[in-house]
Amino acid sequence: MATANPNTCPHCGSSNSGANFGFNPQRINDDETLIHDVLFACADCGGEWAAIGYVMIAQRNGGELSKEAQDALAGAVANAEELRIEALDQEGNPI
Ligand SMILES: [Zn+2]
Repeated sequence: MATANPNTCPHCGSSNSGANFGFNPQRINDDETLIHDVLFACADCGGEWAAIGYVMIAQRNGGELSKEAQDALAGAVANAEELRIEALDQEGNPI
């Protein structure tokens, strides 16, 4: 059963996960990049999944988001398609 929470592993239910790749990167400044459709991996079972329609800011240095990053994120969220979680198998194909 798909969940709308991109941080929860659809394979084992763990929330011990992290984003490890994003598609369609859109550079905002030297430190911040807006990414659409994010690949997550689970630290507990090693499973992977894609959060389609999920947008986030990837930061090189961490810390607070800049104003321009917040604005870009808000705009991207407003235009994003509905969030969809796709569990992936070992080869990265949708299950
Ligand atoms: Zn897992």
